[in-house]
Amino acid sequence: SGTLYIVATPIGNLADISQRALDVLTQVDIIACEDTRHTQKLLSTYSIKNKTLSLHDHNERQRQDYVATLLQEGKSIALVSDAGTPLISDPGFHLVRHCRQLNLNVSPIPGACAAIAALSVAGLPTDRFSFEGFLPSKTGARQATLANLLEEPRTMVFYDAPRRAIDTVADIVKVLGGDRHVVISRELTKTFETIHSDTAENLLAWLKEDPNQLKGEMVLIIEGNKIDANAIPAKAIATLKLLLAEMK
Ligand code: SAM
Repeated sequence: SGTLYIVATPIGNLADISQRALDVLTQVDIIACEDTRHTQKLLSTYSIKNKTLSLHDHNERQRQDYVATLLQEGKSIALVSDAGTPLISDPGFHLVRHCRQLNLNVSPIPGACAAIAALSVAGLPTDRFSFEGFLPSKTGARQATLANLLEEPRTMVFYDAPRRAIDTVADIVKVLGGDRHVVISRELTKTFETIHSDTAENLLAWLKEDPNQLKGEMVLIIEGNKIDANAIPAKAIATLKLLLAEMK
């Protein structure tokens, strides 16, 4: 059968595309795109003429059988999203799962991913990290999400809209404390690329002073909970609780 290529595309600067991605986009029988008009801009920049098919969150499950049939007929297909790596807070998961279940070939053409690009310049520990996707847009849900991560020791990576940055960072101050280190990476690879790192409290003041920071796209990275060597470990507390329950 043919191969489904999962092709990463740039997250801003159109030069951030690999030679292999350009070759695959030229050679496949069809390109499945999150938004065909958006992808057309990339294709025309590189003078690539190829057929496109729309595949987004709302039609992915209907399209998966069609795409699988094309692959079984020996056709090769590229999947791209509007920016960065498909499936990472983007469509494609259902299709890839379906193809794997059918034992069809799925192969990655790696490239840009905003989460990894932001992590690579944040200056926070990268040996272990947790990708948390989009933060909820409503304050209550956002605070609950952050509260659940209060004890998370790993560096946390979020996607968020800059227009919500002040509300989000205010929630971080409230729920995780003003001392937590936060890094905002905005407009990565684009003209107004800004990477700013500070405590949540200072970052909030900085955002309030500069309305330009509330535009475009951003990745928010939060330092993990620093484990206090003198604190009673969570596991010990859980065991103590169990013991107490036994004694009742
Ligand atoms: N699949 C993409 C990837 O691999 O990064 C992510 C898609 S998700 C729908 C879009 C989010 O990624 C934005 O809301 C923003 O949080 C982040 N993002 C994308 N491009 C970015 C950029 N140039 N600078 C900062 N964040 C970006």
